[in-house]
Amino acid sequence: MIDETDPYLDWDAAYTLGMLSAAERKEYERHLAHCALCSSGVTSLAGMPGILSMLSPAEALALGDATPALATEEQLRGAEHSPRPLPRASSGRALRPRSRLRMAALGGGAALLLVVGFGAFQLGSGLAQNTVVAGPAPSSAPTATGTPMQAADAAVMTAVLALESKPWGTRLDWQCEYVQTDWPGGAPTFELVMTDRAGTESVLARWTGAGEHAANLAASTDTPSSEISRVEIREVGRPDPLATAEL
Ligand SMILES: [Zn+2]
Repeated sequence: MIDETDPYLDWDAAYTLGMLSAAERKEYERHLAHCALCSSGVTSLAGMPGILSMLSPAEALALGDATPALATEEQLRGAEHSPRPLPRASSGRALRPRSRLRMAALGGGAALLLVVGFGAFQLGSGLAQNTVVAGPAPSSAPTATGTPMQAADAAVMTAVLALESKPWGTRLDWQCEYVQTDWPGGAPTFELVMTDRAGTESVLARWTGAGEHAANLAASTDTPSSEISRVEIREVGRPDPLATAEL
């Protein structure tokens, strides 16, 4: 049950976003100490500033006056003693600020999805249906370090592979230098194949062997690194590995 008489009911957003004055903040924190409803509101919004900070200025503007950056200069000048229009029960505490924030959350979610989607796209332009991608998309800088993979006798490429254990599984970063750059039949498609300790193979990524090298290749799997026995690079449709890392 929502207590309609609780004047602090909609302060959670302003509090979470750091929009309250010091005095308001103290007052609200005193209230939080004995109001489970408002406390849970704050808890549910705890991740919000981080999400909001991912929005572009234009997107943030679109959220209306829910962010401090949108206060007019006049408001800012008089900020000390002309309180922002904090929603209160007496002033028809509509759901407006709260619903704006919910929208912000949705917008932030969409932005996050876009970021993840873009990252996944970068993993390899031709991710196969059996590609295993788990956890957040790799987004950090390319790793120039790693272990050289064992190249096949008829060397097509040299490759360097790095595995990183993550709470959600394993992140793989690798890069290839192609010995051959002129492919008679067109640039081949390569795939990164992981074999786990049970002998099960999974294709983690596919990419086209265009240019002289491929850097910043990355993929992730929910398989723990300790369960990965071998990682190979193959040309799609050919069983023999071009580069192998035994783990
Ligand atoms: Zn309360």
